[in-house]
Amino acid sequence: MNVVYLDNNATTRVAPEVLDAMLPYFGERYGNPSSMHSFGGEVAREIRKAREHAASLIGAEPDEILFTSCGTESDNAAVRSALESQPEKRHIVTSRVEHPAVRSLAAHLARQGYRVTEVPVDADGILDMDRYEASLTPDTAVVSLMWANNETGVLFPVERAAELAAQHGILFHTDAVQAVGKIPIDMKRNRIDMLSLSGHKLHAPKGVGVLYVRRGTPFKPFLIGGHQERGRRGGTENVPGIIALGKACELAAGKMEDENTRVRALRDRLESGLLERVPNTRVNGNREFRLPNTTSVSFEFVEGEAILLLLNEFGICASSGSACTSGSLQPSHVLRAMGVPFTFAHGSIRFSLSVYNTEEEIDFVLEKVPAVIENLRRLSPYWAEAGAACSGTYTNA
Ligand code: PLP
Repeated sequence: MNVVYLDNNATTRVAPEVLDAMLPYFGERYGNPSSMHSFGGEVAREIRKAREHAASLIGAEPDEILFTSCGTESDNAAVRSALESQPEKRHIVTSRVEHPAVRSLAAHLARQGYRVTEVPVDADGILDMDRYEASLTPDTAVVSLMWANNETGVLFPVERAAELAAQHGILFHTDAVQAVGKIPIDMKRNRIDMLSLSGHKLHAPKGVGVLYVRRGTPFKPFLIGGHQERGRRGGTENVPGIIALGKACELAAGKMEDENTRVRALRDRLESGLLERVPNTRVNGNREFRLPNTTSVSFEFVEGEAILLLLNEFGICASSGSACTSGSLQPSHVLRAMGVPFTFAHGSIRFSLSVYNTEEEIDFVLEKVPAVIENLRRLSPYWAEAGAACSGTYTNA
């Protein structure tokens, strides 16, 4: 069975060019970049090139790029460094819809005595800027706000938020794991101090990430050890991963605009097709300020997990907007923060596309989903009741 992979915000396929670039570093080019001999030195040179490509994708300088093991490490390193370098400040500002890489860290730090403010979002998933501004205090050490939401794709105005933080002398970190490679980012044109990205979200393999640290930003290493990464992250480098990430960044920089125009068109085709064909369906989140590849769609009166299982039988991979907490399925914290109505929130599916998707695949999904939803609704007592109440009118919220 062919797989129709629409779960690219979970992870992406390694691009063939990226795989080709990294393979020699598992084989004949196994030198340690820290070695004095030229066998290692050649590897160090390739790492330098990868650093230049990563820097160039986000308009940074190579010495502002610190290779890590993943987005989660980058997020943790950024927030912890900000706290450690300003021990007198005890307040962290973040949002209600962050990825667990920031949200769970903030909860952990709150248990250790830090004060955490989670800024709310509106029904569209847009950050409440008034509440954000009001949350900044002389005691605030760091703001950590995501650039793009992994579930809805909604974009936060992080450049404006960073400007406000800078006016208060507060360090600003952004989790840009879902944004990098999908939207243009130019660190020369903003005042963001630190930015996280992750290789496996942009067609590099799992196990490699970047933390951008602006020149002059105080930085305390998370991994303390050798002198790698100019003393900012100890540990022998993940050479194949870094080479791969460099290649993925190079590819993304060259093709982003064209490819994302195509991906956006496919996403819009999928989204409008679903809204047209399936009654009682809505899209979660602002449809203008969001990533080109993501749509979060809710089908009223059905369970997201049941939808996923049935789609899986056709080889369609997506993910649901629910989280399993203490054995019961709860709508995700993102959908709850947006106040998505209960009957919709449970039936939420995230479709996230990539450059490898085709129009044929989208049409296949549009052919299968309406029947899947109809079958599930036939079994749903809530749908029977609601159907009677609606007497057959179809509404697309
Ligand atoms: N931040 C966001 C917004 C994400 O979507 C993810 C992964 O899904 C992460 C952080 C964590 O990245 P990684 O899987 O590389 O640790």
